[in-house]
Amino acid sequence: MKKEDNYIQTSGLVYMPGKNIQDKNKRSKKADMIIMNSGAKPEEIGRVVEEIKKSGLRADVSQGEFRTVIGIVGDERKVDFDHLAALPGVKEARPIEAPYKLISREFAKMLAPEENIGIIKIKNVTIGGEEPVWIAGPCSVESKAQLNKIADGVKKAGAHILRGGVFKPRSSVHSWQGLGSQGEEKAEEALSWLKEAGKRLEMPVVTEARGETVVDLVAKYSDIIQIGARNMYNQDLLQAAGKTGLPVFFKRNFGAGIEEYLSFAEYIAAEGNSKIILCERGMLPMGKGKAYTRYSLELAAVPVIQKETFLPILVDPSHGTGRRDLIFDMSCAAMACGANGLMIECHYNPAEALVDAAQQITPDELKDVIETCKKIHKVVSEVKKRNKVAVK
Ligand code: PEP
Ligand code: MN
Repeated sequence: MKKEDNYIQTSGLVYMPGKNIQDKNKRSKKADMIIMNSGAKPEEIGRVVEEIKKSGLRADVSQGEFRTVIGIVGDERKVDFDHLAALPGVKEARPIEAPYKLISREFAKMLAPEENIGIIKIKNVTIGGEEPVWIAGPCSVESKAQLNKIADGVKKAGAHILRGGVFKPRSSVHSWQGLGSQGEEKAEEALSWLKEAGKRLEMPVVTEARGETVVDLVAKYSDIIQIGARNMYNQDLLQAAGKTGLPVFFKRNFGAGIEEYLSFAEYIAAEGNSKIILCERGMLPMGKGKAYTRYSLELAAVPVIQKETFLPILVDPSHGTGRRDLIFDMSCAAMACGANGLMIECHYNPAEALVDAAQQITPDELKDVIETCKKIHKVVSEVKKRNKVAVK
């Protein structure tokens, strides 16, 4: 037997299949991924799943091109890993140090070739593939005419996906909350405008589910469910959105660390839904005095997250700056650091928008952003490919 078949080494700790984990007391976590032999039989996989369930945990079974990998979901202290590792058909039990595993690049790489992972197909659009994706539309859907005029504009500018908020998260109860807050009938009407505009222009649509109670309604009309920055920590909402099986556009909270953000993304993945599109949209600005921007875009998070996970990550320079005069610059910067696309708020007359007027650009301005960003993406990805750096 080859040496590498017999043990694996992670963070200085060695785990021998069928033997005790060495240095057990120093570890904060135990092995939590069961890797099956490439020829494992269905009944062998079934047996591992049963044993995990017997311990009161859930098993996430991923059938990859290479092999089957079983992720354990829940409190792993209850699991007897030695027993699992000794079951027929099991190649190894692998520890993962991060609090997320189902969305980790390490996990995905065991299942399929790297170039095939993290690709999300939504109708005619591919997110996380070789080409970046542009999501654009109004901050909020205000009327059918407003939405359609903006939708026509962004489509012409080259956008792939249409956005528009119906349930708006607002800091003050005294500000306008979107058409979704004007009763169920109005909410459904506004959502249907979005769906119709998407259908007419052959653009998938995305809109926010601000709470668990509207997840099913949003899922009925939208191709992608958005979870806003303020809701990043809302486990029940993440689980409900994950359960729909629809792709989830998951925004980072303005105070969340990267590990924290990815740990919450794992709640969606734990529902068997790995169609998660991440979005960096800025952190609370630091320091005294005037901030000049609404939030601070943390662009280093983009390549870091791409190394950690296989999920695509987009950048939202609209909320990230709060300023329409900075959107071109920050879009270019986002492309330079390898973002898989952008989400940009657009309006034919930004000044008249009911929400976020200061950060919306016109469809003509969007066209300039898209054309320039395509060029930046091409240059950057060519160099990365040449140097064999993961480009997506
Ligand atoms: C939005 O995209 O409509 C939005 C409200 O953004 P965020 O949740 O990032 O503030
Ligand atoms: Mn907005």
